[in-house]
Formats: sequence, structure tokens, C-alpha cells
Amino acid sequence: MNLVLMGLPGAGKGTQAEQIVEKYNIPHISTGDMFRAAIKEGTELGLKAKSFMDKGELVPDEVTIGIVRERLSKDDCENGFLLDGFPRTVPQAEALEQILSELDKLIDYVINIDVNQDILLERLTGRRICKSCGSTYHLVFNPPHEEGKCDKCGGELYQRADDNEETVGTRLEVNVKQSKPLLDFYEGKGYLRNINGQQDINKVFADIEELLGGLK
Ligand SMILES: [Zn+2]
Repeated sequence: MNLVLMGLPGAGKGTQAEQIVEKYNIPHISTGDMFRAAIKEGTELGLKAKSFMDKGELVPDEVTIGIVRERLSKDDCENGFLLDGFPRTVPQAEALEQILSELDKLIDYVINIDVNQDILLERLTGRRICKSCGSTYHLVFNPPHEEGKCDKCGGELYQRADDNEETVGTRLEVNVKQSKPLLDFYEGKGYLRNINGQQDINKVFADIEELLGGLK
């Protein structure tokens, strides 16, 4: 099964990706891992990517796409793959179509873990960290026994600047804007399947299993 996984920050994409690759025994291909592997192997494209990253620049599409092509050509992708973090844009999605057609493959589904933005905001801003020992908590999912106080050491809990509502809200907006054309593109191709990510994580995975049940 050839899958692309999409979802906004906080949607629970990582958890679902882990479960999908374990159950269906397909490689999890995230952009970061792919770059790291290509650089470690010292492939020409890997070295090219590294030269941009070392300068703190964005890796150009042609290099990224080349690395995706190399990765998807490997033997372990024969029975499928789960792409995560690529494509990010419509031109990248078009390039992916091209790569797959060269490899005589097709995308089966683009799975989008769908969660309302307000809920994402709540999930992403709920993190609290202990000033003394660094333990992390979440106001909704893993609250401390006593408000504002670390269970382990009694230290004061604080919210990182990155986790505040304004920063997180802006990050979400940017992501929504970026992913919209891509979702539309895949909707138009008939690949897109929205999975309700506002349920218990086990139920989210059960829905994915139901969707994938019909695939080989
Ligand atoms: Zn503590």
C-alpha cells in the first residue's frame, strides 16, 4: 500500500504513523529521516542537500525530489510506503506523481488526520514544563496533581514561549494555508481520505485500519 500521511501539528500524525508502519510492515518515510540517510550514505544528492543545510538554506525542490526518488526506488518500498512530510506543495505532489509513474506505482490513499483548529490550539498550548527538573505535563492529557506544581519535585511549572497561544495560532494558520492547496489537489485526484482525529487515538487508528482493510 502506497500512502501519504497528512495532518496539522498536534493532529496526532506521529502516533498514527508508528502504528501504521508496524501493522502493515511498510517503511515510514519522513523527510527528515530521508535527508539524514542520504547524507549518511554520502549519495550525490545527499551531499548536495547537506551543502544547503550547512548554509542554513532551504533545500531546493529538485534536490528533495531526487532524494525522494532514490528512497522510493529502494527494495523495502516494494510492498508499499508511508510518506510523511512530503509532499508539502502542489509542485512537489506533481513531482511525486511523476516519480511514482516512473516506478510503476500509484498512491492508494492520502490520509489526512482531520482535527478542528480550536482543538489543536488547546492541545498545542497545554504543555507545561517544570523549571527545576524539566518534567513535562499537559493541562488536559497529563495534568499535575496540584496546579502549577511539579509532581516529582514540587518545582514551578511554566509554559514555553513557543507554546503560547499567539505563536501556536500563527504556526497553525501558516500550516492551514500551506496544506489547503495540497488537500484540494489530492481531493481532485480522488486520493484524499479524511480521518476524524478528534476521537480517542485507538479509534483513530481503528478508522485507518478500516480504510486500509480493502488494500493489498
Ligand atoms: Zn520538577
